[in-house]
Amino acid sequence: EAKARGPNHHVLFTPQMQQKVSERAKVEGELREAIETDQIKPFYQPLIDLRTGDVCGFEALARWVRTDGSKVPPAFFIPVAEEKGLITSLFQRVLHRACCDAMQWHKGILLSFNVSPVQMEDRLLPARIFEILGKTGLSPDRLEIEITENALVADPDLAAKMMEELHAAGIKVALDDFGTGYSSLSQLARFKFDKIKIDKSFVGRCGSDDRQAKIIQAMLGLSRNLNAKTTVEGLEDHQQVAYFIQQGCDIGQGYVFGRPASAEDTLEYLAQRRRVLATA
Ligand code: C2E
Ligand code: MG
Ligand code: MG
Ligand code: MG
Repeated sequence: EAKARGPNHHVLFTPQMQQKVSERAKVEGELREAIETDQIKPFYQPLIDLRTGDVCGFEALARWVRTDGSKVPPAFFIPVAEEKGLITSLFQRVLHRACCDAMQWHKGILLSFNVSPVQMEDRLLPARIFEILGKTGLSPDRLEIEITENALVADPDLAAKMMEELHAAGIKVALDDFGTGYSSLSQLARFKFDKIKIDKSFVGRCGSDDRQAKIIQAMLGLSRNLNAKTTVEGLEDHQQVAYFIQQGCDIGQGYVFGRPASAEDTLEYLAQRRRVLATA
């Protein structure tokens, strides 16, 4: 770019800019290594059937713990992976691991896995998923893919085609963070979702703020009319749980039911719930 502007044009490159560039490069290298050495692992947060109180699945959430023990949040490393072309290898490693973990849960428990909008431009995505299912033995009907509205914007035709391929194989597709993305409601007519996840930003004050409540009711109604199940994320207290049960929401997720936990802790959590059921 500097050249194109002619030899007398000086591009200002401040020490801060230099620092940012080298920080990014360092993070890229670190992230690449973290992916290759499996420092990034899926944690699991329970999805609770609000009618029965049973666990019906887990959402896999990627966790990066550096060798020195420090944690890097996904809100930081997922965008870096997207930008640096590392998202596919990250996805494949973490999904493979998650499918192996899910094979140890009892049948009928769903694994819900996030797919980044960038991946919806990769026409090989369904084939990559089928390959991992084949290798790990997880039945396709136990896998759910979560995509956000933003995933439908870049290439809606391709997104629709891939969703059809996933559906034909028995994989479910959920719309994540509903109501917070760039896509319009008209997109909902075109894409068939098995589940709609109400973003946690709608949950606060749901019992006391009338306008908020009206919006939640409209989302639940829309989801119901489209024959999708509804999950609400970010439930933090029992009042919120009671509110969404009363509104007829199908599934709940949030700290009130459990924080994302390691594979080992998740197995223990399932075993403990079984013991409770056995003695009830
Ligand atoms: P998301 O898919 O909407 O996941 C839900 C986020 O809400 C998670 O944050 C979860 O830890 C958090 N959460 C759950 N319950 C509560 C609650 O009661 N209160 C509050 N305040 N938060 C709650 P997390 O794990 O930090 O992940 C952030 C985002 O990063 C995810 O949002 C998802 O978009 C992305 N992400 C995480 N793992 C992956 C991955 O493996 N692949 C891709 N592409 N994206 C991922
Ligand atoms: Mg999600
Ligand atoms: Mg979400
Ligand atoms: Mg969210």
